[in-house]
Amino acid sequence: MTSKRRKSTLKPALDTDTAFSQRLMHWFDRARRDLPWRRTRDPWAIWVSEVMLQQTRVEAVRAAFERFVARYPTPESFANASDDALMLAWKGLGYYRRARLLRDGARVVVRDHRGAVPQDADKLAELPGVGAYTRAAVASIAFDLRIAAVDGNVERVLARHLALRDDVDAAVGKRAIRAAADERLDHDRPGDHNQAMMELGATVCTPQSPRCDQCPLAADCRGLAQGIVMTLPRKKPPRAPTLVKARVAVVRQAGGVLALRIPDGEPNAGQWELPGPGALVSVEENEFSARTRSRCRAGIEVGPVLAEVRHAITHHKITVVAHAGALRSRNAGSLRAQEPTDPDVPWTTISRKVFAAMHESESD
Ligand code: SF4
Repeated sequence: MTSKRRKSTLKPALDTDTAFSQRLMHWFDRARRDLPWRRTRDPWAIWVSEVMLQQTRVEAVRAAFERFVARYPTPESFANASDDALMLAWKGLGYYRRARLLRDGARVVVRDHRGAVPQDADKLAELPGVGAYTRAAVASIAFDLRIAAVDGNVERVLARHLALRDDVDAAVGKRAIRAAADERLDHDRPGDHNQAMMELGATVCTPQSPRCDQCPLAADCRGLAQGIVMTLPRKKPPRAPTLVKARVAVVRQAGGVLALRIPDGEPNAGQWELPGPGALVSVEENEFSARTRSRCRAGIEVGPVLAEVRHAITHHKITVVAHAGALRSRNAGSLRAQEPTDPDVPWTTISRKVFAAMHESESD
């Protein structure tokens, strides 16, 4: 049977694989950053750190991680966390959906694995929120399982080292990266190898200013030799942004301003935001009341503009217009008064930007 798979443009595997991992490990042993999650082999702590590190800078994770594992040292302790406690524990990291999935995962660990993170890679993969990357990271770092982890950093290092001209998001490119990652994995130290690849991508083979003169892989880096480093990895151009003009109301009440806890199923579910039809919904001023009523179960009229802020969520570029508002229905429906400056209220980033802009214009 002939395969219909398109072949990668790569030449056969490099013959430097042993040297690759030796050079990488030698570099990592000297250059590794001392990070709190690197001082433990506890699979729960490693799982927490890997989830936190998705889309969040190491410096932001450092403090949050230590606070989190001190408060929730086991899956069982976090499985029982309330929504408010979860938001508080995740403060400063954003992307709260990750925290809710982590709690779902902790609950499955308690229910199906007697509270112990499973050592079996297939069982790890069945946990909510654990994708291929997190599975490989936890399995290799905590349990020494020989599974190569591929995140954006690793993908970039390998695409450049191989001079891979295929689109890394297409099937053929993904297969080439996966094969290269598996081939190069250090079987004696798989956890360290995975961390070293990520570290190299984060600190040396960076997207905009790779420091090839300090790279342990430079001697046989094909991308460097061919002068095409900055064109790699190849990807389809990002989709055009969707422009949104959203509106929110600032309705002052005793105890703060009226706020809505974002319903399940919407981005940032569980956080608090200023009332409106939603951050991804464009709305004209004269439609505001009608479009807000069903979501907030309260009637709100809007008046003068207090502030305008910008924000991006995935491919949405959002301009948020904040109006002074007044409650027109008999009760506040789903809305509750929350204090804008209370650090324990998990306000959305947009809401915090609105408060900051209002504060600035008030003090002008
Ligand atoms: S030599 Fe440069 S492009 Fe090649 S892997 Fe190292 S940092 Fe990246």
